[in-house]
Amino acid sequence: MTKTADAIIIGAGIIGTAIAFELAKSGWKTLSLDRNTQVGHGSTSGSCAIIRTHYSTFDGTVFAWEAYHYWPDWADYLGLPKGHDLARYIETGCLVMKTEANGYLQKHIENCRLVDCPLEEWPAEKIVERLPIYSLESFAPPRTMDDADFGKSNGGQITGGVFWPKTGYVNDPALSAQNLADAARLQGASFQTGAEVVEILRSDSKVSGVRLADGDEIHAPVVINVAGPASAKINGMAGVLGDMTIKTRPLRQEVVHVPAPDGFDFENEGMIVSDSDIACYCRPEHGNNILIGSEDPECDPHQWVENDNDYDRNFTDQWTTQAMRYGQRVPSLGIPQKTRGVVDLYDASTDWIPVYDKSQLPGFYMACGTSGNQYKNAPIAGKMMASLIEYCENGGDHDAKPHRFNLPYINRDIDVGFYSRKRRINEESSFSVLG
Ligand SMILES: Cc1cc2nc3c(=O)[nH]c(=O)nc-3n(C[C@H](O)[C@H](O)[C@H](O)COP(=O)(O)OP(=O)(O)OC[C@H]3O[C@@H](n4cnc5c(N)ncnc54)[C@H](O)[C@@H]3O)c2cc1C
Repeated sequence: MTKTADAIIIGAGIIGTAIAFELAKSGWKTLSLDRNTQVGHGSTSGSCAIIRTHYSTFDGTVFAWEAYHYWPDWADYLGLPKGHDLARYIETGCLVMKTEANGYLQKHIENCRLVDCPLEEWPAEKIVERLPIYSLESFAPPRTMDDADFGKSNGGQITGGVFWPKTGYVNDPALSAQNLADAARLQGASFQTGAEVVEILRSDSKVSGVRLADGDEIHAPVVINVAGPASAKINGMAGVLGDMTIKTRPLRQEVVHVPAPDGFDFENEGMIVSDSDIACYCRPEHGNNILIGSEDPECDPHQWVENDNDYDRNFTDQWTTQAMRYGQRVPSLGIPQKTRGVVDLYDASTDWIPVYDKSQLPGFYMACGTSGNQYKNAPIAGKMMASLIEYCENGGDHDAKPHRFNLPYINRDIDVGFYSRKRRINEESSFSVLG
């Protein structure tokens, strides 16, 4: 017998499970499909899961500030029975260094003040008081290791930063997606793992379902592409790439884990730090380690990947470069011989802003192009996608008259057209993981 559902969701990562949860709460019979054997084991499991609120664009800031509120309220938001094993949100605060590269954060400060998102401006003395392992010598611009000036100070100093107290990270991102899937199941959603979608079915010029690698067909009037780094492949199968000005593409990333210097409890006394002077961000990692990610400086070539299912998962020079760049800021950092961390893929969009939209094929939707910075936004992206799908399925023409959506915590209406697949490339973006 052919299976049916009201909506098929391709992908059970943090965004796909959040959409399943919200649609199921609204009474939709959803079926989530994932080719992996476990929920949350796509790029979500490799995420640094940093929850921050500063973005280059005003719309990005508003969305992230709304999204923040779900993480400290995780248990209430999910509504799972007491005693359920939940992912934990750890609030550390986030310090961003003021640099020429980020315009000394003037735009970010202004964006946050407009929406009452709290922040503190810190002078250099406060930074070293809170992070005594830090040296504030300036090294900009970031360089590759083979540059003769790599590791040489430019003679200047970091003079201050901005601290956002309402920020932190989630200790286990795969578990957080599994929590959302369990919460969705409680609302009637179904999940099928080990199910690879190989074809998008159409009937009468509308989407009508999917075909799986084992030949099974599943029929539904709504199909949502939340396939993470495989999003372009799925959009290609649906034949919807034609009217998209924003493209999505898998981009390889390495994340470094190194022990904190002896004598400093970075796990409890450290914080998230975004430092464009050395093109690194970091956060505490359990076992008193420091996790170090790249802020994608211009000098580093992008490692685009052809096949999101088959790419080099070994550490390369990128790992060593990142560790050594962070060593410029923390001179007592030891860099172990044994490389540890994560290799995974971003689903990078043309302007590093996600696409939350319908498509040219009626009934086919997409939540993709998350560009290494949308884990934090999953709860509100789930609500917004559910609302967008209901708007369109009830006859709304989102391309002509973009849907407006209310952000419930901060009670602000937004134009969902900001995330359109057909938007003009947003020149206000940082064109990096910072969004
Ligand atoms: C190294 C790294 C660090 C990051 N750090 C942060 C951070 O600190 N903060 C932040 O906010 N964001 C961060 N991100 C981004 C964030 O993790 C992603 O935006 C988010 O996890 C994407 O979730 P998703 O559900 O869209 O995709 P995924 O988790 O990738 O899920 C997509 C799913 O689709 C499935 N799939 C693909 N193709 C098919 C198919 N044909 N059939 C069936 N199933 C299919 C896959 O198996 C996968 O499980 C980071 C990302 C990476 C890679």
